[in-house]
Parts: sequence; C-alpha cells; structure tokens
Amino acid sequence: MTTPLEAGLVADDGVVHVALRKVNGYVAGCGVGKIVQIIAGRFDPADQQACPQCLADTTESKAN
Ligand SMILES: [Zn+2]
Repeated sequence: MTTPLEAGLVADDGVVHVALRKVNGYVAGCGVGKIVQIIAGRFDPADQQACPQCLADTTESKAN
C-alpha cells in the first residue's frame, strides 16, 4: 500500500493533482478532469500547490 502517487496538471492553473492512470491517459484523483501534463516525481501532500481535494481523497483512505 505504499505505491507512490504520480502527480500531474489538469490545466495551467498551478495546482498539482494526483494522477491516476486510466486506459486512455491520466485523470485527476479528485475527479476534476484529465491530466494534461505529468510532473516528474510523485505527488507530495506537503507541496503548497497540491490539490486540497486530491489530498483529502488520498489521506482519507489512509487515515480511516
Ligand atoms: Zn485534484
């Protein structure tokens, strides 16, 4: 359960989302839309630009 989450951008809004791999690309973990750009590395919850909703979704499944 320690698989690193990939990170990506949905649009040029400076918000970093969790990138979930789907059959035809990546979608944001919060469901806001398709990932248009993958960011090298992994999703970092401590990043100030990390999407709050993606953060809530990912920490929720771990904490509870
Ligand atoms: Zn998000």
